[in-house]
Amino acid sequence: MRASFKCRNCGKCCNAFYTQINVTIGDLIRISNFLEKPVSYVLKNFVGINPFGDPKNPTKFSYELGVNMPCLLRKNEKCSVYKARPLNCRLFPYWVLVQAFVFNQNKIIDKSYKCMNNLKLGRDKIKKYSGYSKVIGDILIQEASLTDNILYKLNIKHSVDLSKNKDYQELVAKYKNKKTSSSLKQLETEKIRLAKIIFGKLKDSDIRVIEDEARKPFLLKIVENNTKRLEEAENILI
Ligand code: SF4
Ligand code: SF4
Repeated sequence: MRASFKCRNCGKCCNAFYTQINVTIGDLIRISNFLEKPVSYVLKNFVGINPFGDPKNPTKFSYELGVNMPCLLRKNEKCSVYKARPLNCRLFPYWVLVQAFVFNQNKIIDKSYKCMNNLKLGRDKIKKYSGYSKVIGDILIQEASLTDNILYKLNIKHSVDLSKNKDYQELVAKYKNKKTSSSLKQLETEKIRLAKIIFGKLKDSDIRVIEDEARKPFLLKIVENNTKRLEEAENILI
């Protein structure tokens, strides 16, 4: 049994289509600075419109910026932008481990993710993971709200309900009697694919709007400050 989480490079959290990873405007700016490329380059190659499910309604998806899966920023079995990786990538799997420990919810631990296998954490580790998750979570809330304000300026659909969609109804019929966890993940994957087609891709005009917003001095100041907080947060884990 291991007493600390350690990434074992299985790649599952970076590749599985059903684990959508949303991206904030701060993430976009950090990745663009790290790669020394414009925000538009990141949007054209790695991040796009991605549907995120509504936990209360299995047919509803809202649109957010998210990492295109499988994530093409993963190279040679490693994250090529590790120091600038999105907030959601930083949170995984810390929030899962804290949740499982604090609320005794072992079933949320998916042992097919190699880092979760053979792991037994003590109270001291969980305290650190919880402190770290709190800092990242606070930054995420702030940056997600800034991102939403920008997304509302784009000329795109903001949510979709698949319940009346013919392709969705065929999917449901196909998976009607399949209840294993792998078939449920497959169904989720196919639903996300379908919602993604309906949302479509970011238009050049939308990319220009995001890029203009990402240059605003007040936003750059917030992101700069958050980036420092993120660097400090890494020390909590030591
Ligand atoms: S699932 Fe865990 S072990 Fe696999 S790449 Fe992600 S963090 Fe690393
Ligand atoms: S940005 Fe890095 S950590 Fe996040 S999904 Fe892509 S490769 Fe994985």
